[in-house]
Amino acid sequence: MDSEAQYKILVSKGKVLIHTCQGESSRLPYPNEISIQPEMPIDGRFTFGHPVDAEAISMDEESLVETTSSQKWVDLRASASLLPSSHYSAAAKASELIFWDSTTRYCPVCGAEMTRHTEISKRCTKCEREIWPTLSPAIIVLVRRGEKALLVHGRTFSKPLYALVAGFVETGESLEECVRREVKEETSLEIGNISYFGSQSWPFPSQLMIGFTADYVSGEIRFADGELTSGGFFSRDDLPQIPGPPSIARQMIDAWLEGNLS
Ligand SMILES: [Zn+2]
Repeated sequence: MDSEAQYKILVSKGKVLIHTCQGESSRLPYPNEISIQPEMPIDGRFTFGHPVDAEAISMDEESLVETTSSQKWVDLRASASLLPSSHYSAAAKASELIFWDSTTRYCPVCGAEMTRHTEISKRCTKCEREIWPTLSPAIIVLVRRGEKALLVHGRTFSKPLYALVAGFVETGESLEECVRREVKEETSLEIGNISYFGSQSWPFPSQLMIGFTADYVSGEIRFADGELTSGGFFSRDDLPQIPGPPSIARQMIDAWLEGNLS
């Protein structure tokens, strides 16, 4: 079962297996540290060489023969603060590929079975339609008004924290149009001076977050569309609870707090 890949990435229902040893930093396991019950089915399998050389396998947690004290299943999101960044990126990539594989078993055109064509593409066994892993782009924006920044609480947030306005890019719109539309729809505010900040892969399950800054232009805050329940412009010395790392929201808020936004 073991491949020549340097690391083995085991993924199971949103979790990833990491190797943690006292006195060492956590990492992905090596193939010789992993043993899987031979009769257990493997849901999905991928190999890739970047950001680390790895074989990724989707499986049930119980299929692992022996979870030693140095092996631990952790939520993918929590693994971001435990693993070196290249190992987390590889685990995130594995998770996205496995999600794509499990949701594209049949051809969207004719319904026949899809089979792997290359490592990252599939082909229909009947009509030969080819598909590749899909990404859902979403914008996230920090809106400034003087020395304050717009922070909002969403109806679906599981914690009492305040984050940035965000939303999925719609068909036919540019990223800047999406930023303007989302802020208008969710808060009724008009904004300008939209600038690119940076982007982040968000593998829950397959998003690409694209961060922007913008400046308030006009309007009064109204949470009209029901997605947001509260929020407003907060000053640096009066912040509510904000998202933790590794989110790009936190990176943007930190950059604003430190005065590092252009
Ligand atoms: Zn087909």
